[in-house]
Amino acid sequence: MRVTSILWPIWLTVSLTKAQDILARELHVSDAVEAACAELGESHADLVLLPNTAEYDKEVINVWDKRSNLLPGCIFRPETDTQVATALRIFHANNAQFAVRGGGHLPYPGANSISDGILVVLSGLNKIKVDTKKNLVEVGPGNRWLSVYSALAPHGLYAIGGRLSTIGVAGSSLLGGVNWFLNKYGFTMDTIVSYDVVLGNGTQVVADKRTNSELFWALKGSALNYGVVTKFVIKTYKIPRVTSTMQIFQQAAVPAFIKATCDLVLSEDGSVGAGAVININYNVTTGTATPQVFGLQETTKSPPSRFANYTAIPQVVTRVHNVTTPIDRHAGLAAPKPDVPVRLCVSFGHHTIKPDAKRLTEIYNAWIDAINDVADVPGMRPTFILNLVPRSAATVSKKNGIGNTFGLDNKQPYIWWQLSTSWARPEDDLRVTTWSQSFLESIHAENKALGLATELLYGGDAADYQNPLLTYPKENQERLRHTRDQYDPDFVFTRLNWGGFKLGY
Ligand SMILES: Cc1cc2nc3c(=O)[nH]c(=O)nc-3n(C[C@H](O)[C@H](O)[C@H](O)COP(=O)(O)OP(=O)(O)OC[C@H]3O[C@@H](n4cnc5c(N)ncnc54)[C@H](O)[C@@H]3O)c2cc1C
Repeated sequence: MRVTSILWPIWLTVSLTKAQDILARELHVSDAVEAACAELGESHADLVLLPNTAEYDKEVINVWDKRSNLLPGCIFRPETDTQVATALRIFHANNAQFAVRGGGHLPYPGANSISDGILVVLSGLNKIKVDTKKNLVEVGPGNRWLSVYSALAPHGLYAIGGRLSTIGVAGSSLLGGVNWFLNKYGFTMDTIVSYDVVLGNGTQVVADKRTNSELFWALKGSALNYGVVTKFVIKTYKIPRVTSTMQIFQQAAVPAFIKATCDLVLSEDGSVGAGAVININYNVTTGTATPQVFGLQETTKSPPSRFANYTAIPQVVTRVHNVTTPIDRHAGLAAPKPDVPVRLCVSFGHHTIKPDAKRLTEIYNAWIDAINDVADVPGMRPTFILNLVPRSAATVSKKNGIGNTFGLDNKQPYIWWQLSTSWARPEDDLRVTTWSQSFLESIHAENKALGLATELLYGGDAADYQNPLLTYPKENQERLRHTRDQYDPDFVFTRLNWGGFKLGY
């Protein structure tokens, strides 16, 4: 007897328990999804989670942005690539909508969650195999970066992955991957030498420099238009020791802090691996801004030389340098801990600007003024982030014979200026996201008029209304669509899949 012939009517009639507390609504599962869940249940009953179960409820909220707590018709947790292929064949045959979750960090509803469709959670594909002879590591898409760093640490090896170590390997590698040593080794996607992929009809292929080379290129920056990646083979580097710097400043240091940031990216030549998380946090209760830089450099000298411009700023609250190992540094950079059950609503969004300190200080001042409009929102935590895009990062992909989909110019450094805004209540979602969007777009329009902006967006830091793929060079967009037409001729990932960013028809 079919598993779901018993369970299905119960799904539709019994009121939801815990999941309903998260999102007070009922499931409206389509015939297609019902059929697909039933087929999955027949062949893999132990891997299918149904509503009204504790495991289902736990998985629904296992995402970083609370807005993404959508209720799927069923959840499938494969443990092998063959099981992923079976699922894709079933979705394709039934025209059933589905979403895919790696580490669950992309912060918008539907990025790694789905209402009424099937959610595929990849956490069971969590193998890691280190090849010290070839300096490579094979990584399943269910891993977070901390697990990869932990597997490499005993060998003195390091992979060029996420700075905050709880983010997923899958999403960050496929979207691009801003890392500590971007300036020297490029984006994470530039360090992937092979992908195992399940295509929309369930076919399994390997994409590398020689085999399916167009797909190999296309996967570098444009997730979820081609297939589900079930294995990444990633380059590793001998980086046993590093020096970290943590510098937290008084508000009065903001102009000098922004200037130090622009000087860092302008002076970058990629010779010494170094990078940073660079934020200004605003506390709406005290009305104070706190600039902070968390840097890491491939050196055993302290203080790390690349951050000298920050070290020279006098208005400091905390300044700590530490010669350490990459794994020790990462262990302290898990944000938030993966087992935190309920998270804040979070919205990202950004634009690209040339490193102009005067203009960025004006933007910061405008942001402080604009916060007045949302300061009363419960749980409001606004953050202004400066992500560096040095020339040398683009040089890596220009010289490695592969390239990537971004099409970045290696003559001009940029900064992705980003808003990360957190708040507590769902009823404020629209108010806060509209506020963020209107600020980002009005400032970007001014930056364009000043000749300081360019359109390129990064998927990892994009807002739900932004589509990075449509900001790539036109010839890259055409090449991506051509590749998509070849590898997903039935448009499974365009029509049926939620999440990522889509190329469109
Ligand atoms: C706190 C925080 C810190 C961050 N720090 C960094 C950083 O240091 N550097 C950086 O570059 N980015 C950073 N990001 C952004 C991050 O790269 C993205 O959120 C990325 O999506 C995380 O990957 P994930 O697997 O956790 O996400 P998910 O949300 O699970 O996946 C992202 C997208 O990829 C798709 N996907 C997942 N797995 C697969 C697969 N196997 N095959 C095909 N598609 C798949 C999903 O469907 C989804 O649409 C950060 C984000 C947060 C919230």
